[in-house]
Amino acid sequence: MLVEFLEAQAQHSKLAEAVIDNRRAYYLDDNPTISDGEYDELMRRLEALEDEFPQLKEGSPSQVVGGWPDPTFKEVRHPEQMYSLDDVFSKEELMSWFEKAFRLVPEAEIVKAGGFLCELKIDGLAMDLLYRNGKLVSGATRGDGITGEDVTGNVLTIKTIPAVLHGQAPESVEVRGEVFMMVADFEALNESLTDEGKQVFANPRNAAAGSLRQKEAKVTASRPLSFYAHGFGQLIPETAFERQSQGYDLLRTLGVPVSHHNKVVGTLKEVWEFIEYWHVHRHDVEHEIDGIVIKVDDRALQERMGATSRAPRWAVAYKYPPEEVTTKLIDIQVGVGRTGRVTPFAVMEPVKVAGSVVERATLHNPDIVKRKGVLIGDTVILRKAGDVIPEIVGPVLADRDGSEREFVFPDRCPSCGAPLAPDNENAKDLRCPNAAGCPAQVKDRLVYLASRSALDIEGLGEKAVNALVDDKVVYNEGDIFSLTGDDLLVSSYFIKTDTKTKAGGERILLESAKTLLANIEAAKTKPFVRFLTALSIRHLAKGNAPAVAAAFPSIDALSSASEEQLSQTDGVGPIMAAAIVDWFKEDWHREIISKWLAAGCALNPAPAEQAGEALPQTLAGLTIVVTGAVPGYTRDGADAALAARGAKATGSVSKKTSLVVYGEGAGSKLAKAESLGVPTVPSSQFEKLLETGQWQ
Ligand code: AMP
Ligand code: ZN
Repeated sequence: MLVEFLEAQAQHSKLAEAVIDNRRAYYLDDNPTISDGEYDELMRRLEALEDEFPQLKEGSPSQVVGGWPDPTFKEVRHPEQMYSLDDVFSKEELMSWFEKAFRLVPEAEIVKAGGFLCELKIDGLAMDLLYRNGKLVSGATRGDGITGEDVTGNVLTIKTIPAVLHGQAPESVEVRGEVFMMVADFEALNESLTDEGKQVFANPRNAAAGSLRQKEAKVTASRPLSFYAHGFGQLIPETAFERQSQGYDLLRTLGVPVSHHNKVVGTLKEVWEFIEYWHVHRHDVEHEIDGIVIKVDDRALQERMGATSRAPRWAVAYKYPPEEVTTKLIDIQVGVGRTGRVTPFAVMEPVKVAGSVVERATLHNPDIVKRKGVLIGDTVILRKAGDVIPEIVGPVLADRDGSEREFVFPDRCPSCGAPLAPDNENAKDLRCPNAAGCPAQVKDRLVYLASRSALDIEGLGEKAVNALVDDKVVYNEGDIFSLTGDDLLVSSYFIKTDTKTKAGGERILLESAKTLLANIEAAKTKPFVRFLTALSIRHLAKGNAPAVAAAFPSIDALSSASEEQLSQTDGVGPIMAAAIVDWFKEDWHREIISKWLAAGCALNPAPAEQAGEALPQTLAGLTIVVTGAVPGYTRDGADAALAARGAKATGSVSKKTSLVVYGEGAGSKLAKAESLGVPTVPSSQFEKLLETGQWQ
């Protein structure tokens, strides 16, 4: 009789799974895969088995009438309490947590019994799945830990959660885990919500929670939800496995997904290494994580250590610094950049996020301010993921009290007062058209001219530039190379008063001002490519200047090149070609050139000195990404060196990347290259690579 029952049960499980799969296709995907007749036949066989063995009815699809079940959100009592976790935020806190834990069970005993189970703390929402005789009978949210909400109908739409366990399942098993949304799925979902003109989700966690709490299972089914198991509640029989990690192995054989990042280690040192490793690599994971969970692996020891009223004493969560915080939006201001683009930016109450203090964040353009829906005075969600620039996600609507006000974009340039105009290339941007004399633009261009990317003039930083422009020593970059000591005497930034020599005090140049003049003088003989970069021609930056300079190695050659000649040059697209030709059409631009020439700048170097030409094109046709430090080079310098050898230096790794050069501090780009099978070479080989074009 028992053998007969087991056979019937196995057969029943298969039929139930087939019925659910077909209902899913029919009710959720509108894409039936079998005929009504075939479906009826499945149901008939299922019910026939249940007539013979009524105990098979529990959790059977025969018990569900009328389509796919929607969630009931009714209270359900968890067979066993669902706990929260103790939090720690530093190594010291973690170590003292363990010290306390080891008073309950000595460290040696834990190690002997299998050690510590380290897991990523998935940023999703906790789920309690109850399987009886291999069938999912309930899926519930955590709620207060004692009772949660019944969302079975929605849980069943998640394709990776089995409705029927595979193989020989325990009589009853309560699987705890996390429902979450993978980062890639979240981004795709938000993109399609944007396309449909709907409100996007602030983060994957909210997207997962919002999707699971839909009243209609069909809507949930359309959302890309995932699930990983990370624990157990009630188990019948109790002794199914000794260690939690073995429990995960069992779950995998039953078809329940478990994270492949979990790791069992034997020492606290290794626990700490796991924490540090994932801190650096937290954005390489398919889902968001907010920390690491460390558990005693042995279940008997877990039992012995027990739990407080809210959290187990055998597990602890190490939390990484948050990447999302809330703060007050004090004001929205606008700034004018090097190219005249006027960008709004948020001024916030300073707040620490992902390890650094943030008080400003760009809002890009008026359209984005509108789309984010933020008002001045709002509490806003601020996000800074890894080394990504801080970004305002949106307002916390619940915190509004009516005192907030809308941001009004100014119609005049905050720096020079010129009426703003839409950008001719990107209508969403506004620009100050007064490029020649707008102090903000001139200052930014001068700082750029003196930066390492361009002419690398030490002493001509932001402060010196501000003094030069504000004290009207220079009008724009045309005046830089003819500066004299007398000119600088006008600005208090460059002088001191010598009281020793004269009664009234003589204004004399500071040493630093003399050095600055010497540095400017020295810059006059720099390679043409650096002057070219220093001109701030739109679309022409340090990355592509070497290609332009290689083909047109002097200002005479470049200024007489036609748009057609330019666009036929390797590395120069039609947009850049047009921008270069347009640039030379402006009188005041040509005036800069003649002033620089008059001051003795090497804009028309003799052929032998023309940089770029002489270098063999060892890397022609290759696309190369540099990540981390290259000894002896700045990042821009390394890119320029590659470009001078004919390579295309880019910032992101894809299948099309030919090679990744990595050095100290290399980040996720290296991991990505490895995962894509893109060859990698250490930066110690950089010189050899430039010389020979070889990396093996
Ligand atoms: P907290 O909400 O901060 O108290 O953290 C406890 C929650 O972390 C649990 O309810 C789980 O839903 C969640 N969690 C995410 N990943 C894991 C994991 N690997 N192990 C245990 N809990 C996890
Ligand atoms: Zn302006």
